[in-house]
Amino acid sequence: MGDVSGPVFDSVLDGVGATPLVRLRRIVPDGGAEVWVKTEWTNPGGSVKDRAALAMVLEAEQSGALRPDGVIVEGTSGNTGIGLAMVAAARGYRSIFVIPDRTTTEKVSLLRAYGAEVIKTPGLVPLEDPRHVKKLAATIARDTPGGWLADQYGNAANPDVHERTTGPEIWGQTAGRVTHLVAGIGTGGTITGTGRYLKRVGGVTVIGADPETSRYGGGDGSPYYVEAVGHYLHPLTGEDDWPAVYDTSLPDRIERIADGESLRTVRRLAREEGLLVGGSAGTAVAAALRLAASTGPDAVIVAVLPDSGRIYLSKYFDDGWLTTLGFLDAGTGPLVRDVLG
Ligand code: PMP
Repeated sequence: MGDVSGPVFDSVLDGVGATPLVRLRRIVPDGGAEVWVKTEWTNPGGSVKDRAALAMVLEAEQSGALRPDGVIVEGTSGNTGIGLAMVAAARGYRSIFVIPDRTTTEKVSLLRAYGAEVIKTPGLVPLEDPRHVKKLAATIARDTPGGWLADQYGNAANPDVHERTTGPEIWGQTAGRVTHLVAGIGTGGTITGTGRYLKRVGGVTVIGADPETSRYGGGDGSPYYVEAVGHYLHPLTGEDDWPAVYDTSLPDRIERIADGESLRTVRRLAREEGLLVGGSAGTAVAAALRLAASTGPDAVIVAVLPDSGRIYLSKYFDDGWLTTLGFLDAGTGPLVRDVLG
């Protein structure tokens, strides 16, 4: 708080990246390894995906795939959609997002707030069906004049931006002391790019943090509650669509974390560290804490925390939701005490 200046930007997009690194103080064992977190929710669109969204758009502008009067199209209701909607607004593009019909109203409202157009389509149809989210997004991109499909799962600009920015930031912020990187895997962009850089410059050990049943860590692909990371088989269609941008040779190891452990860690981060983060951040920190218990005190562990807890208040931070699912125990404790008088 001593610094009375701050960065000055020509555009909100200049605020993407260069996120703070924060040391965990209270939920780590005394005298053990250092655990630091990369606060990716401090990006202006609220998540790590701002980096990929901006990089994909800038690359498409340069290659000519996205023309000045072009239309940005993607099949996602998640953080990539929000990032792309923000970039579209700031750079004056129209944007269209195809989303599954079960998407929460909050997510639709976020995209709409940035001026994006939203098209809902059935979430439970096979990949061959023209209404499938990815199929429909591709069709709209093809049939809309100036349409450009961002394609975060196949677009090399996604991992590349982490190799150019997230990795070097972590290396610089730890003054080259980082020994372990922990990150979740959605598209695999974060772990592939950041891991690639940190392995190259410092031989850093890369650990994937994955929901217990996710296919990335060798699970059976059955559903889990932590959102936006891991890989599951579509419950009705059995769809299995492995992302091209994920380099599976990068993680040295994958820690499998059950929903309950991720969510208890999320609650502890809020209450004991003052860090309000999302479920995949809980998965990453749970894996980092496991690691800290097994490495010596000289390890310097950095976990990437992708988004904020604010959009999950009615889930991960709701006692009723947690109790119904059996995740609330003495470790988390009730948040609200009703006093009836
Ligand atoms: N956590 C959250 C909350 C996310 O939205 C994403 C992106 N889907 C990830 C983790 C994983 O990031 P990546 O796509 O770079 O693997």
